[in-house]
Amino acid sequence: MDLTFDAVYYEPQALEYPLGKAMREKYRTLPWVEITSHNRIPELSAAENKAFAQLKRHLVLGVRKTHQYTENHKVSDWLVPYTSSGCRAMCLYCYLVCNYNKCAYLRLFVNREQMMEKLLKKDRAAPVPQTFEIGSNSDLVLENAVTDNLPWTIERFAREGRGRLTFPTKFEMVGPLLPLEHGGKTIFRMSVNPAEIVWQVELGTSPLEARIRALNEMAAAGYPVGLLVAPVILMPDWRRQYGELMDALAGGLSQQVKRTGFVEVILMTYSFVQDAINTEAFPGAAPIFDRALMTGRGRGKYCYRGQARAEAEHFLQEQIREKLNMPILYLA
Ligand code: SF4
Repeated sequence: MDLTFDAVYYEPQALEYPLGKAMREKYRTLPWVEITSHNRIPELSAAENKAFAQLKRHLVLGVRKTHQYTENHKVSDWLVPYTSSGCRAMCLYCYLVCNYNKCAYLRLFVNREQMMEKLLKKDRAAPVPQTFEIGSNSDLVLENAVTDNLPWTIERFAREGRGRLTFPTKFEMVGPLLPLEHGGKTIFRMSVNPAEIVWQVELGTSPLEARIRALNEMAAAGYPVGLLVAPVILMPDWRRQYGELMDALAGGLSQQVKRTGFVEVILMTYSFVQDAINTEAFPGAAPIFDRALMTGRGRGKYCYRGQARAEAEHFLQEQIREKLNMPILYLA
């Protein structure tokens, strides 16, 4: 896992927080570039699309100022902006590119206490316990390898929260999470795709077998767990690929995961922005945008056409039922 950075762009007030100070020490040998706002770094946003991979090598430190929650009706009740946005990896379909364009590099927000206070307040005020998705803007397991934020988050919420936290990941580095006092209040979801897609499309993420191992370990440590088959990409031989994925899951997942876990299935959406960046930054990469199978759905976004979608959903439902026998929470 390449977690190296080549420069740190920082808001000066970030250095007043413990995490800002810790990052200053950890990356003291890198160039540090002062910025006025993590949202506005003109020299980076002016870079060409082909510089995307170089931009991903930068680390940005800031203070999160907007804390707006979005209602959600899947695993969680709320999508919560938390300790990071963007990511060091480079999945060719990454939804964050739609929001941040080329500037989808890892941004760390140092004011975690403030974010957790707000979350706990919302949790306490709700008539019934709520579930909070804290990983919709980044990959928190990857972020944790840089910041160590997750143990603090999970244990604090276990002590003071009523509902649950949840986050998905594509990374295997769960060792620091296994011994925590989590109280069953964090739902850990592992995102999976066929090994070939992981390798060709999910650049810089953990291999499939390592993800399966990590999910087994988290379930064995008592966390509620889920499996996220996402995003499903309909390559020309997608039936073979996803059939093999289900075989690998059937053989590799522990009985505990199969008995207690749930499955989410999400088909890929793609955007004009991603296509422009991928074409210029990764000219030799696997083509994941198939014009014959996808159709526009507004604002430069594409999704699979009705028939392709129906075939894929039917195939995956059957495979999951036959090979995993786990409940499907939803297909989207
Ligand atoms: S791991 Fe997640 S956040 Fe990171 S690049 Fe891939 S899709 Fe984006």
